[in-house]
Amino acid sequence: MKQNDLLATALIEVRRIYAELSARPIDRACTRLRECCHFKLTGRTPHLTKGEALLAAKALRATGRTRLPGTIDGVCPLLDRGTGNCLIYQDRPFGCRTHFCAAAGGAYTRREVVDLVRRLEVVDGELAGEGARPITAAVGEALREVG
Ligand code: SF4
Repeated sequence: MKQNDLLATALIEVRRIYAELSARPIDRACTRLRECCHFKLTGRTPHLTKGEALLAAKALRATGRTRLPGTIDGVCPLLDRGTGNCLIYQDRPFGCRTHFCAAAGGAYTRREVVDLVRRLEVVDGELAGEGARPITAAVGEALREVG
């Protein structure tokens, strides 16, 4: 498969996985408190597979940005300083949808999402990724790749 076709197919599959997650009858509700975007506060950082990172990079490019915004200590670089909102909310990574937010109902159990995690790992393999990586490094590299 050509590189562009491979990328397009991968992004479709990642979006499909996100859509399937949100369609699951699991009692969670992100109310955009954004506490989870403050990694120093939570002590946790989202890790992205390559497909997730490329989708996030594409979404950031769609905002007109060509580089990852600078970050202040312990805050996600994709959190807009002006509005306090996620710059790529519709395409935010899997971890931002599923992990550790008590206000949203707590972390998903592995059993609830393991099939979707495996599909993200398959996409990662098809893109010659190196497995899930911390968000800043993963999206920074993906931005260089999407041009
Ligand atoms: S990608 Fe968006 S939702 Fe996820 S931590 Fe960063 S700002 Fe928050």
